[in-house]
Amino acid sequence: MAGRIPDSFIDDLLARVDIVDVIQERVPLKKAGRDWSARCPFHDERSPSFTVSPHKQFYHCFGCGAHGSAIKFLMDYDRLEFPDAIEELAGRVGLKVPYEGGRAAAPQQSDTADLYTVLDQSARYFQRALADSATAKAYFDGRGLDAATVAAFGLGYAPDAYDGLRSALGNSPQRINLLEKAGMLTRGDRGGMPYDRFRGRVMFPIQDRRGRIIAFGGRVLEKSDGPKYLNSPETPLFHKGRELFALWQVRQAQQKIGRIIVVEGYMDVIALHQHGLPQAVATLGTATTREHAEILFRNCSDVYFCFDGDRAGRQAAWRAAESVLPRMREGRQAHFLFLPDGEDPDTLIRQEGSAGFEQRLTAATPLSEFFFAHQESGTDLRTADGRARLAERCKEMIASIPEGSFRDRMLELLTDKTAIRWSLSASLSPQMREGVEEMLEERVAQLRGSSGPAAPAAPQPPRSSGAVDAQRSVVRYAVALLLQNPSFVESVDAPPYAFAALRRPGIGLLIELIDTCRARAAVNTAALLQQYEQREEGAALRKLAVLPLHGDAGTLQREFIDALAVLAAQTKQQRTDDLIAKQSDGGLDDAEKAELRGLLATRRR
Ligand SMILES: [Zn+2]
Repeated sequence: MAGRIPDSFIDDLLARVDIVDVIQERVPLKKAGRDWSARCPFHDERSPSFTVSPHKQFYHCFGCGAHGSAIKFLMDYDRLEFPDAIEELAGRVGLKVPYEGGRAAAPQQSDTADLYTVLDQSARYFQRALADSATAKAYFDGRGLDAATVAAFGLGYAPDAYDGLRSALGNSPQRINLLEKAGMLTRGDRGGMPYDRFRGRVMFPIQDRRGRIIAFGGRVLEKSDGPKYLNSPETPLFHKGRELFALWQVRQAQQKIGRIIVVEGYMDVIALHQHGLPQAVATLGTATTREHAEILFRNCSDVYFCFDGDRAGRQAAWRAAESVLPRMREGRQAHFLFLPDGEDPDTLIRQEGSAGFEQRLTAATPLSEFFFAHQESGTDLRTADGRARLAERCKEMIASIPEGSFRDRMLELLTDKTAIRWSLSASLSPQMREGVEEMLEERVAQLRGSSGPAAPAAPQPPRSSGAVDAQRSVVRYAVALLLQNPSFVESVDAPPYAFAALRRPGIGLLIELIDTCRARAAVNTAALLQQYEQREEGAALRKLAVLPLHGDAGTLQREFIDALAVLAAQTKQQRTDDLIAKQSDGGLDDAEKAELRGLLATRRR
């Protein structure tokens, strides 16, 4: 674990960075009053419900609920880890990130940078070795790759030796340690000295979304004991369930990505790129995960999955479908393309060219069709039992689809398949018919009613009036005012707070916020939200951060002072009630009697 980054640094950073600039570089923003707006980069929509507030330094989407600080935006949009997002922002404003925990943390941090360096050096070592190897060059020639493609993908060759890379780059114990950590060296079963993991293989560098090399895939050149394809193991930089081969190249090739084609192998990807379809990516020796699906759809709304037509290919396709369904937000489309037996994208595009492959893509099976074909197989829809079984099988998966027209369409199809064929079958007794219909109706009602665990929260339109809500709870209103304007803390008297004892939900939170704002002068709305991101109160605070408040800063600050005064008065009332209750219960001591008299006197005034 890297050392903790102090909150005060994060405050300072979020105060210096302008979130509008950060987002503007990635999503075109339009000025809308005090704020900026855009079509949301996290869900598909026609009219903009994504707003960025320079005042609060955060973004919020009224459509899908996406929200957060500049840090959160980089994490979600660029898919960076928290410390990387901080590093990125700190780099923009020339700050150096301090890590608490001193020495233990510092080497860890430089380690990451060193890992990138050593992987980059490995790639260059493999490229030099390719230039020197007639066999390896002949392999790529034989697969029809031209020099530009070999260069664009940074392809290389790992010589058939146990200490090729190790002796070229591992000139100290620290370097050997780094190479091992980067997955480039292995110790095998016997322990002992680490040696080259990749031997006698053509090498495919795997890049992250920022173009940095994070791992390699290697394919054997000659028959050997090892597997045909070997990938880097999971390392601090490489998590195969989150990475897609060539996504970097796809994003480099085009400004606006119209579609992405997911294929199975490195050579398939590269052949498609070379033959005019620079939209191909591949998963790295794993099935398509939900994370993959989300990354794919964040880059474009049309995804084509390409599989072998055999049994294994169909199984892989089904796993992809399972991962994709919970990601099918409005406007997204997934298609499945099955290739003829014995063919793969590499061989097909070389035979048919991009036009031929394009035709296959046009004829690809939509997700809905593939879904039902798979679910219906082995089920006899002419029988009531078969139809009921189909409804049962589909129920959970359809419920996992986010609300929207795709889910409606799937429900419609399910109803058609289970009800229409039903009416064609006259041979069933009326009772049986009723039973199944009832069951299906119930199922469909359940489906429509439940949004499923993975579905996003229902859209929340901007509230027209904050005042109505605010009246419901003064505490809530005070929290909203302070959260949106942390500098209001200046008008709060030092503790103890007159309202500290008030038994109302949210009082503890209000006091915590006041203390935080007092202790951290630079804190802004985004930094406060960031702090509560992982906490239970986070969701409530996010709503309050976008609660529309009417009036200029001066008016709002007076309202904040008034709100605290109301809370103080309520606290006194509560104390009065408590004392009166205790009096009738068993009596008060002298101090309490005096206190009660005082309270009643002030109330009369
Ligand atoms: Zn959104």
